Amino acid sequence: MKRRDFFASLGVTAVGLPFLPSALAEQTSTSAVAVGRVVVVGGGMAGTTVAKYLRLWGGTGVDVTLVEPNATYYSSIFSNMILTGERTLSQLSFNYAILTSKYGVKVQNYSVKSIDPIGKKVTLSNGSSLPFDRLVIAPGIDFEALPLSGTATNKAKIVHAWKAGAQTLSLQSQIKAMTSKDTFIVTIPPSPYRCPPGPYERACVVADYLKRTKGGGKVIILDANSKIQAESQNFTTAFNVTHKGIITYVPNAQITGINADTMSVNTSAGTFSGKVINAIPTHKGADLITKSGIGLANSPDSKWAGVNVLSYESTAVPFIHIIGDSAATTQPKAGHIANAEAKVCADAIIQYFKGSAINQSPITNSSCFTPITKTTASWLSVVYRYDPATRTMVATGSGVTESDGATSENHEDMLKWFTNLMSDTFK
Ligand SMILES: Cc1cc2nc3c(=O)[nH]c(=O)nc-3n(C[C@H](O)[C@H](O)[C@H](O)COP(=O)(O)OP(=O)(O)OC[C@H]3O[C@@H](n4cnc5c(N)ncnc54)[C@H](O)[C@@H]3O)c2cc1C
Repeated sequence: MKRRDFFASLGVTAVGLPFLPSALAEQTSTSAVAVGRVVVVGGGMAGTTVAKYLRLWGGTGVDVTLVEPNATYYSSIFSNMILTGERTLSQLSFNYAILTSKYGVKVQNYSVKSIDPIGKKVTLSNGSSLPFDRLVIAPGIDFEALPLSGTATNKAKIVHAWKAGAQTLSLQSQIKAMTSKDTFIVTIPPSPYRCPPGPYERACVVADYLKRTKGGGKVIILDANSKIQAESQNFTTAFNVTHKGIITYVPNAQITGINADTMSVNTSAGTFSGKVINAIPTHKGADLITKSGIGLANSPDSKWAGVNVLSYESTAVPFIHIIGDSAATTQPKAGHIANAEAKVCADAIIQYFKGSAINQSPITNSSCFTPITKTTASWLSVVYRYDPATRTMVATGSGVTESDGATSENHEDMLKWFTNLMSDTFK
């Protein structure tokens, strides 16, 4: 697919405009005034966007408090580029100053410890409580424990770096210390996991880095899944052509043990050793979701929150909405879709506060750009529409579209896409 076709598939003519689902723009025109209190839990891609748009579209009658323990948010998007030295953590840092100064969102730097769905209040880590009319939970993901053995010092070297922060810097320094004779192992958990193309992207940029700066090296991808989970055409080319001789892709490799002393990984596809082991554990909805039992009743499994995708209201508990990676939907766990879900949710809450009907045909979209080398990137794009028969979001047209290879033009577009997505979320 060519670049202009990509933008046509999103219904836009320039980079950066696809962040407003068109169906939403039409439906926020009723004259009633929205009045109500919303507490938003989690200031990541989903939570920050919903807090901003509740105020932007709902006006001053909608009282919004964002609860987030950290004053700084580090973007996981683009964090693979920290591993190869093309970005610093501070270049991927965002804060909530504009959310407060421009939109009037109140921010409390604590974590939410418990939820009282009957009394409609949350308790924060400082012991205080916040009442709500509607609660939006957007705490992202947590991980299952890895079957890890070894000394405490050696075990500390096995990081996931799947939430940008200290682990990203640890992995960066481990990769930097590699030589052309060393092997980097990345393990991919069973789906669903955050950012379907992300681990394959990581393998590509690390392979490119080793080739450019060390004169060679090996990258082994141990995938618990039976096949590549996203952009299979582009990644197959990347593994077999662009990074031929460096990347080895191993499907059906479920981890049974990781020995941090011998730096080896036992899997259902054999045992592999490396200088650096980047183990990405099996995902689950964030602890707040699993511990509080919110939304689990109708979830496909017990790890994620079941939601009605017309409003992202929990299928188990009324007045509580779950957006972003913690929600169980047919859409990918990705920052772009988290931003889109947040807008559908914000609009629905505003309509509820107005006493109006909510939109019955929401549209969301997701785009993901993937650096394949330092200067080239590929992408995938998909638009979802609500299907009343299945009550799910269904991919439109031919489903997920991927770019025709990795190009420098895509790489330029990727930089603009990121700037626009993060501006739409934090500014
Ligand atoms: C390497 C990598 C590359 C990626 N690349 C892309 C990409 O190219 N495109 C894309 O669309 N997506 C990408 N993603 C995925 C994207 O980062 C996530 O899907 C997105 O961040 C999910 O948003 P979220 O709001 O659900 O969670 P997060 O952004 O993780 O935010 C969750 C927030 O909740 C807070 N929180 C947690 N618990 C509590 C609590 N109890 N109380 C209060 N706050 C709490 C956390 O501190 C955090 O700030 C990538 C991810 C990785 C790891």
